Amino acid sequence: MLPPDGSGGDPGPGVVRCWDTEMRRRRRAPGQRGPSVIIDCHGHFTTAPAQLGAWRDRQVAAVGHPEDAPDPDDLVITDHELHEAIETNQLRLMDERGSDLTIFSPRASFMAHHIGDLELSSTWARLCNDLVHRVSTLFPDRFAMGAMLPQSPGADPATSLPELRRAVEELGAVTVNLNPDPSGGKWTAPPLTDRSWYPLYEAMVEYDIPAMVHVSTSCNPAFHTTGAHYLNADTTAFMQLLQGDLFADFPTLRFVVPHGGGAVPYHWGRFRGLAMALKRPDPETLLHNVFFDTCVYHQPGIDLLTDVIPSSAILFASEMIGAVRDVDPRTGNYFDDTKRYVDDTPHLTDGEREAVYSGNALRVYPRLAARLAAAGH
Ligand SMILES: [Zn+2]
Repeated sequence: MLPPDGSGGDPGPGVVRCWDTEMRRRRRAPGQRGPSVIIDCHGHFTTAPAQLGAWRDRQVAAVGHPEDAPDPDDLVITDHELHEAIETNQLRLMDERGSDLTIFSPRASFMAHHIGDLELSSTWARLCNDLVHRVSTLFPDRFAMGAMLPQSPGADPATSLPELRRAVEELGAVTVNLNPDPSGGKWTAPPLTDRSWYPLYEAMVEYDIPAMVHVSTSCNPAFHTTGAHYLNADTTAFMQLLQGDLFADFPTLRFVVPHGGGAVPYHWGRFRGLAMALKRPDPETLLHNVFFDTCVYHQPGIDLLTDVIPSSAILFASEMIGAVRDVDPRTGNYFDDTKRYVDDTPHLTDGEREAVYSGNALRVYPRLAARLAAAGH
């Protein structure tokens, strides 16, 4: 896609940078108040060039026949193709909707940790992470990298440590996506409070990065991937945390529970009552370590989220371009244009709204905050 003024040809990095500046100037009139940087903490590279999916198909076809597995070097995606994939999709919508920066991770449903073994997942994770790293490098003002982990059913979570360290140290990841169910809907892994997860938490604390709790494709036909499995997992993860004492062991550990926290805010009274019955602390005490995003695709849902959950535990996000891509015929706006709902909810003051858009994310993602500070934001 050409820049809106039609002046661009082959979009080199310099051209894009100018376009960025121009778009920001257009959507913020002089003197207009607003957060300095509106951060969408939940985006995936769902629009990667087709070569990625074709390479993955070959890898999956070779399960059980590793000698037939494709070489990672067989995947060739040019910078121009990445520009095209991002500018015509995520970047266009970010500019139309008024968000500045997206924390951008590999396509969640493509993680598919249930396919193959640890070695296959490791190769796939490196490939996908390298790709989102390139996006964050090509558009440093607009995308910050989140990494996927090479999880595999039955594999010790510690086996994800090398890729976690590579992603943070070499690729600049500011967060990771942690799949609480690498089996893809069969829930064979222990709860997130189990000590087998601790090596990952120790590394997260060491790097001061949060994890987004994010499952992948469901291979259980009882659970639709994005309509059931994702929301089940969000709800399940929160209940696991409510039942355990994880944050006594890791007081600074942070989880982002996406999709508005699944059913949790809607059923907050149930969770409070269960906490009492189980002789656990009130669930609000978890909200120093657990944050919900705003990927809830209608106004009443955001109104409920912002009414029930303290604003300090809410992070702006859209998961764009994701599961729900259509226009809501009732409003004429895209379902996943969540900024409209956050702008319009009556339950946030201006200061709280600013925190949801920016300040909370800067607290939860200190590596992003440091990067923005270094860039002069
Ligand atoms: Zn997602």
